[in-house]
Amino acid sequence: MPNYEFMCQKCNKKFSLAMSVKDREEGKFKCPKCGSRKSQPVFGNFYAKTSKKS
Ligand SMILES: [Zn+2]
Repeated sequence: MPNYEFMCQKCNKKFSLAMSVKDREEGKFKCPKCGSRKSQPVFGNFYAKTSKKS
């Protein structure tokens, strides 16, 4: 399963979850810290920051 990054809108923590595309589309994710469902998928350069320099 792909890993997705999320940013919790409640506690402002980033977390990653492995889930199917279907689960992600249905919003079946919540913050593991506070359990809030107000989490936004993180796109963009998160992986670029943590991956090896090109
Ligand atoms: Zn949270």
